[in-house]
Amino acid sequence: MKRVVNCINYDDENEWRELEISSDLHVYPCCTLHALHFLDGTFYDEYLDGLPKNWNSLKHHSMDEILKIYREHITPEKWKKLKTTPKCCQKWCLKDSKSNKEYGL
Ligand code: SF4
Repeated sequence: MKRVVNCINYDDENEWRELEISSDLHVYPCCTLHALHFLDGTFYDEYLDGLPKNWNSLKHHSMDEILKIYREHITPEKWKKLKTTPKCCQKWCLKDSKSNKEYGL
């Protein structure tokens, strides 16, 4: 399937490879969003940033509840077109972006 992003965490077998859990028990769908949120305090995504505080914390919610939100917002189907690609994925993972080229993706 043609995609506008290079997702380092969604493989050719259509499976999510890993999850990231921060030391304070916040869950992230990939190392990219973990790093962005840790360093900048934002997902660069209106939807994710607008969710209630601690929505992705295992101290407050179950893993299933947290993953449901990520899996509904970030889906491979949305990566087919730029305009449907979640903003958080556009920030670092667009195929033609400078940041991706710097990392050889
Ligand atoms: S930000 Fe989106 S496209 Fe980039 S690695 Fe994470 S889930 Fe994949």
